[in-house]
Amino acid sequence: MPYVIPPSPVVGLPVDGTDALFPVRRVYCVGRNYAAHVREMGFDPSREPPFFFCKPNDDASVVPVPAGTVATLPYPPQTGDYHYEAELVVAIGQGGRDIAVEQAAQHIYGYAAGLDMTRRDLQIAARDKGRPWETGKAFDYSAPIGPLRRRADVGALDGASLVLEVDGQVRQQSTTAHLIWSVEEIISRLSALFALEAGDLVFTGTPEGVGAVSPGQTLALRIDGLAPLAARIA
Ligand code: MN
Repeated sequence: MPYVIPPSPVVGLPVDGTDALFPVRRVYCVGRNYAAHVREMGFDPSREPPFFFCKPNDDASVVPVPAGTVATLPYPPQTGDYHYEAELVVAIGQGGRDIAVEQAAQHIYGYAAGLDMTRRDLQIAARDKGRPWETGKAFDYSAPIGPLRRRADVGALDGASLVLEVDGQVRQQSTTAHLIWSVEEIISRLSALFALEAGDLVFTGTPEGVGAVSPGQTLALRIDGLAPLAARIA
């Protein structure tokens, strides 16, 4: 049957070493998954575990950033506190539900560097009223993602360093060894809540050092073993 209006296109992420694209299905995110970031947001990491939220998967929200290019991120409306959050993104290559931690690695297709861009003022206002986070997290251009690298090519990325610079100044510097929930634990817990499918992405959380950016500034994220991600705020 034809559609009455054109359907939204599937977003495809470049994959290092191939001309084929990784088709994005859902975009899951983990909140408060690095202890020092939990503390900078005013919470106690020993008192509550990380949690999940989602971003849209459409081609307005997810911004594939091919290697060697600089994405343009328009400064979003209705905010005066537009933040970067540098994150390791995991791409699911094999679906499943109730996946055991020990089996989780088999479900990983690969990894990418990603930015969980956030309207912090709107997120905090919603958070403090017990309201959903979409206005703070799920806006257009909120999920720029660099090229995927296959797990088969890059390995597990345990303890990979992660560095985010704004205009050449280091603002976030950590390692995936500091994740509260490891990548395998994230997949296991997420798959207990949702049936995972090939094509799903998971933003695994950001370390400390989040902050605001303004038009004209450039973000550069490097994660060991992955293609760097660059974006300019317009
Ligand atoms: Mn985040």
